[in-house]
Amino acid sequence: MSYDKIYLEAYKYMGEKVLEEDCGLLCNSHCCRNKTETGERIGIYLMPQEFESVYQGTALEHRLKVERHSSKIYYIPPRVKFLYYFHCDKEQGCFRELRPIQCRSYPFEPHLEKGKLTLVIEKEQIHHCPLLDRLQDLRKDFIKGIYKGWEILLQIPEVRLLVEYDSQERIRCSNILHQYLIDDCL
Ligand code: SF4
Ligand code: SF4
Repeated sequence: MSYDKIYLEAYKYMGEKVLEEDCGLLCNSHCCRNKTETGERIGIYLMPQEFESVYQGTALEHRLKVERHSSKIYYIPPRVKFLYYFHCDKEQGCFRELRPIQCRSYPFEPHLEKGKLTLVIEKEQIHHCPLLDRLQDLRKDFIKGIYKGWEILLQIPEVRLLVEYDSQERIRCSNILHQYLIDDCL
């Protein structure tokens, strides 16, 4: 499957509502802010090949104003080489149908250990996400869709490398609060 088909397929699975209600109303979409409480700018990493597969050649290519972060400077696996990063501008509104993987998967992170995929919630959080206190309310179709989406994305070698790298780092720093085997969630 080509990378653009992989991304669109993953977006389809990862498009389920998190809760029965709109979770953004619980927190004024806290995870979409582009400045921290102390005024520091924060943004979102796109996954490897996501920009090229989804946004390049569309109107979003210019709107996103991506920065290219090299593995020589940032904590990015050398074999991934670089990742695109951007600051979301809520005032322009969410481009919801094509929102990136990171926006879809949060608060779950993909975790690979001995080749097995699980979903984890990290201890270290930069967002005060109310969902972290309501994990039992997350829709099963949301969890299933996120898992399925990551399974599909892991076909892209650089995505797999990045997920493996982040998983090792998470283990090294004991940064797992909850870990879900897909069978536990469903
Ligand atoms: S994922 Fe969490 S922080 Fe983001 S909008 Fe939903 S409840 Fe708010
Ligand atoms: S793309 Fe949408 S969901 Fe993602 S950070 Fe921007 S406003 Fe939030």
